[in-house]
Order: sequence, then C-alpha cells, then structure tokens
Amino acid sequence: MDEITVVGGGIAGLVASIACAEGGAPVRLLEAHERLGGRGRATEPPFVASFGPHVLYANGTLWRFLRERELLPPVARPPLTGVCFRAGGRRRRTPPLAFSRALLRLWRVREAPDDVSFRDWVAGRCGDEAAAWLSAACGVFAFHHDPGELAASFVWERFRQAFLDLPPRARYVRGGWSVLIAALEWGARERGVRIETGVRVSELPAEGATIVATELRDARALLGDEALAWPSGRTVALDLGLTGRRAPFVVWDLDEAGWVETYSKPDRSLAPQGHALVQAQMPLRPGEGADDGERRLEALLDTGFGSGGWRERVVFRRRQVLDGRSGALDPVGASWRDRPAVDCGDGVFLCGDSVAAPGLLSDPAVTSALEAARLAVAQAALRPATSRL
Ligand SMILES: Cc1cc2nc3c(=O)[nH]c(=O)nc-3n(C[C@H](O)[C@H](O)[C@H](O)COP(=O)(O)OP(=O)(O)OC[C@H]3O[C@@H](n4cnc5c(N)ncnc54)[C@H](O)[C@@H]3O)c2cc1C
Repeated sequence: MDEITVVGGGIAGLVASIACAEGGAPVRLLEAHERLGGRGRATEPPFVASFGPHVLYANGTLWRFLRERELLPPVARPPLTGVCFRAGGRRRRTPPLAFSRALLRLWRVREAPDDVSFRDWVAGRCGDEAAAWLSAACGVFAFHHDPGELAASFVWERFRQAFLDLPPRARYVRGGWSVLIAALEWGARERGVRIETGVRVSELPAEGATIVATELRDARALLGDEALAWPSGRTVALDLGLTGRRAPFVVWDLDEAGWVETYSKPDRSLAPQGHALVQAQMPLRPGEGADDGERRLEALLDTGFGSGGWRERVVFRRRQVLDGRSGALDPVGASWRDRPAVDCGDGVFLCGDSVAAPGLLSDPAVTSALEAARLAVAQAALRPATSRL
C-alpha cells in the first residue's frame, strides 16, 4: 500500500493514524508542535490546566474507540455534590422551577428539528421563561453567547448526551488529557505509525493519500480552499490556581451561558496539595472585547464562590481567548451534514471537530477521523501512487 500522510497530531490525527495502521497502511504523522495533542495539551505542573478538553463522555465515540483498543486511561467520576446555579443574578442550590419542569417535560423527546431555533422550540412546548434558562444552560458545550439561536436539533442532541443520559456519563482522565494523548501516541507507535513532531506542513505531499487533521482555519490555508469554513464559538476562558480547596464543583450559569468547574475536585492530581484548579469560561457577545468578557466572567465567579471568595486566593492565572476553536455550531436550517465534507477529492481527506460528523465536543473529530482513515486506506489499497503535481 501507498504510505498515508496525516497532518496534525491532535486527537483527530492520532485516531486517524491508528485506524489507517489498523487498515494495513504505512502511516506518517506530521505535527507542527514539539508535543502531540493539539488542544488536548496542558500546562506543566503544579497546575495542570488543559488548553481545551476536560470531560471524557462515557457515551461518546472517543470513549468507545479507546475502550475497544484497551487504550482507555484511568478516569474519575464527578463528585455528587457541589453544583450550584446562577439564575436571576443570584446563587442558587437548585435551578429555577421553570427549568426543572421543562426538563421533565422534554425528557423523553429524542429529536428536535433543524429548521427552528432551540429557543423557539422550547418556548413552544414549555414557555418563554424555560426557553431562556435552557438556552443559557447550553453555553458549556456551545461556547456561544446565545445557544438559543442555534438549530434546535444541534442543541438538544448535545444537551441530551451531556446531561440527560443518567447516571451522569462525564468522566475525568486522571492526570488530565495529556495522559489520554500519551495513550493514543503509544497506540499509534505500537501499530507502526512514524511520528515526526516540530514539522509544520506548508504544502500537501505530492503523492499518496493525505489526511488533514488540523483546525479548520489551518486546513483552509493548507488546501487554499476558502469554502472550508463553519460557525464556531468565541469565548474567554480563565484557568485559576487557588490556595485552599474550598470551591464549588460547578457553577452553571443560566443567565449568561457561562460555566465554572473545579477540575481538581474529581482529580486532585491537577493541583498541588491544599490548592484548587478552576476553569471558567464566558462566551463573548458579538463585538465584545476579551476584557469586557473577562469582567463578566469574574462577576460569575464572585456569585458562584459567594462569601468564600476567590480573588485573594489566586496563585496561578491564565487567560485564553478561544475564537473558532471550540468545535462546530449548526445554525438554524443546517445540520452536521452541511459542514465541510471529509472527502475533499484528489486523495485528500479532512477530519476535525468542524467537519461533517455528528456528536458532542470532540466526538465529531473522532468520527470524521475514522471516516477519513477508511477512505484513505481504501484509496491506498486500490490505486498505485498518485501524483498531485
Ligand atoms: C475550552 C474548550 C473546552 C473543551 N472541552 C471539551 C471537553 O470537555 N470534552 C471534549 O471531548 N472536548 C472538548 N473540547 C473540544 C476538543 O478540545 C476538540 O474537539 C479536540 O481537541 C479537537 O482535536 P483535533 O485533533 O481535531 O484538533 P487539534 O487538537 O486542534 O489538533 C490539530 C493539530 O494540528 C496541528 N497542525 C495545525 N496545522 C499544522 C500544519 N500545517 N502542519 C502540521 N501540524 C499542524 C496543530 O499543531 C495541532 O496539534 C473543548 C474545546 C475547548 C476549546
């Protein structure tokens, strides 16, 4: 078989490499950074703060892929207590009644339509108040200032996977996602994948099938194809290392679609002894600057931490603005099928979390990687070395 080149060593590139090698193809993986993992990388200890993902969903595609190959690292379950809400500007132990009633009512509804906004869909069944609370509740996976304006099908499918599949399916990789990346790297090397890091690819290899497993904007530049675009979120995120372990586990923001989570609660190894690691995020409004978004996020932290306080306890602080880096958002009238396709033609295949594939957060990256690998292996097996020159 021809060698398959995979560009990008994040989750999508590693999964695609493993799947191609399992299909019998020789594989070369090229990664621009010295370290593999992409957004799955993290800061060095003492505070192990991920650049992106934290939660591994036990009902998702990545989980299944890892488990089937015995690559699943040790995981922790979420604590049973410590969740609070911000609603109507104040901290609450329970969500507003309209929110809970709407969930009871919608519990059994498996699918929602593409051609209606999530807000209108909920409002038609449960009223405007419930629609407002539920819309803001989806900021945690949408990274959008107003998830209610997105397609009802998109939002509801993800809400169900994240929150309504009981008991909760959220899991936390012990030691953070770098441990998961290390497991994938081991799985790739064991299957003979040749990994080269510190190599930024500026043009596609002249021969053989190529899988482009980069963020969409990098794929757009590499392939010179302006059509490779899809809506994504814009959010400001703060990682905070705090003295003392006192902190809510989750502050679920039903006012402004923000989210606060103390990742050292399920996994103490992420922070030094006697400290806490918190990640908080606030989606930016259209035209809003990062400083203003950060102030709104600090206000959410003030409400969530209450009199316990957080400001005077900060010993580590990192701010990120994540623009177009938190996965696809399907607007009204569109579904994941309308996103940039896996098969770009001419022996080039695309994968990542903004590519045409279903699922929550990193799941589309995994599903599209498996599809890209299937197509690339089929091409490598059928055709003699093809030249793109
Ligand atoms: C704040 C935040 C929170 C998130 N939380 C979760 C969560 O809890 N659970 C979850 O499952 N998902 C979560 N996600 C989503 C998850 O992080 C992504 O879906 C996943 O990391 C995407 O992986 P990827 O391999 O497609 O892309 P990336 O991780 O971006 O990897 C792309 C790689 O390609 C490399 N590259 C780019 N250009 C080139 C080039 N020209 N040559 C060579 N290499 C190149 C990059 O260096 C990078 O390593 C979150 C994302 C964000 C931003």
